[in-house]
Amino acid sequence: MKKSDCGNDLIDVMLTKMMGAAMDFQTSLDKLSDSQVDELNGRDQKNHQEQLKAFDEAYNIDKCYLCGESLDQMRAAKPCIHWLLQRAKFKKKDFPKIYERYGYHNIAAFLRWCANRESPFRT
Ligand SMILES: [Zn+2]
Repeated sequence: MKKSDCGNDLIDVMLTKMMGAAMDFQTSLDKLSDSQVDELNGRDQKNHQEQLKAFDEAYNIDKCYLCGESLDQMRAAKPCIHWLLQRAKFKKKDFPKIYERYGYHNIAAFLRWCANRESPFRT
């Protein structure tokens, strides 16, 4: 089976598109108190480790850790971040649906993990 197509150039394109939203997110962070930010960071960190582990395990068997589908499957009823890896089939109009569902941080993390897996210089 063909591995998913997710080079760093794709990540650049997607991250550029998401910049606006990220800045909105930053603005909302600025309004939080210090203790709220600490809580959020702590939770995110734990969550991140768990998600990366789940991503790795699923990726090893060509599955998506978020929706459980094969990485080359695109079911219209379940828009998912893994669709972004299917450059040939992915339609730009689907991006807002995925963005709405998962948000900037999940999408950015997913694309980075994917790129790391396919890079010979894995970090
Ligand atoms: Zn998926």
